[in-house]
Amino acid sequence: MKYARKRVLVTGGAGFLGSHLCERLLADGHDVLCVDNFYTGTKENIAHLMGNPYFELIRHDVTFPLYLEVDEIFNLACPASPVHYQRDPVQTTKTSVHGAINMLGLAKRIGAKIFQASTSEVYGDPEVHPQVEEYRGAVNPIGPRACYDEGKRCAETLFFDYHRQHSLRIKVARIFNTYGPRMHPDDGRVVSNFIVQALEGRPITIYGDGSQTRSFCFVSDLIEGFVRLMNSPDQVTGPINLGNPREMTIRQLAETVIRLTGARSELVVKPLPADDPLQRQPNITKAKQLLDWEPVVDLDTGLQRTIDYFRTRLEA
Ligand code: NAD
Ligand code: UDP
Repeated sequence: MKYARKRVLVTGGAGFLGSHLCERLLADGHDVLCVDNFYTGTKENIAHLMGNPYFELIRHDVTFPLYLEVDEIFNLACPASPVHYQRDPVQTTKTSVHGAINMLGLAKRIGAKIFQASTSEVYGDPEVHPQVEEYRGAVNPIGPRACYDEGKRCAETLFFDYHRQHSLRIKVARIFNTYGPRMHPDDGRVVSNFIVQALEGRPITIYGDGSQTRSFCFVSDLIEGFVRLMNSPDQVTGPINLGNPREMTIRQLAETVIRLTGARSELVVKPLPADDPLQRQPNITKAKQLLDWEPVVDLDTGLQRTIDYFRTRLEA
């Protein structure tokens, strides 16, 4: 066991990132309570953990209060793919804001340390590149992404007010595009879309001219960053960028997926969604200095593991 055994609550624990985090916390020797309402998460993501006596699953919607006794809380509950968070935008904002209020209230009552899965979307369509934590962002407050972006911004506000007003121990991570096994084939995000399209021999859908950029982090790197941030000294509150600084265009990503899958898919152009950020790249100087963290999995390796996962899943 790497650390003393702790009771750790993971909201959104049946989702893509949450399931990897639960797995990692169990491997580190902790008691894990996974809370999820299965809006975008699935039981399949955590089925392999069910037999572990140190793992508990609770079906619960974080927009309602929750009474538990734990030492630490990772608050991940929230749909993350634009397709899913825009399907029921009011519920998305409620999940971020009411969810944060409920989890912060729980942390305050029991004295737990609490981590927030925030996002690079707080920077909106950024005018500062690469994005540093001091940059305040350019979010359209009434656009289709606002339910998510403003919900996450308000959650950060709540975290810092609970910290200042109630001396809560907080950890706020701003996560940049992360991919890997256990993304849902219908997730709608670009990496899973492109891989599934390539494996099924369907056209690859590029939104806009494909010149917009993102920087993709493999899931195991991100989870290492989560654990380091949670275990960092109390004065390290964040917000702290966690992501892979290797930036590329969406067209380059499509070409890489075609090369690695050996697919013959053609590229088809679809309209660019409203408010789609034109460029995104994390500056991770703070994470390097404060957490001694940086990604180690290169894009080809991470994509290959993800392709292998989807190949097995699609064949099943
Ligand atoms: P995901 O959709 O796979 O996981 C989200 C999980 O939260 C799902 O299991 C879903 O069922 C659950 N959930 C949603 N609403 C809920 C509610 N009201 N009550 C309880 N559970 C609820 O997405 P993910 O990629 O694993 O993202 C996890 C977190 O990380 C999210 O908060 C997301 O905003 C954040 N994030 C992820 C990325 C990324 O690239 N993956 C980037 C930035 C931020
Ligand atoms: N995108 C695309 N084709 C797809 C899905 C997404 O070209 O099938 C683009 C999307 O317009 C955006 C980028 O890929 O510019 C990343 O989209 P994603 O939904 O993964 O996440 P975002 O970073 O926009 O939240």
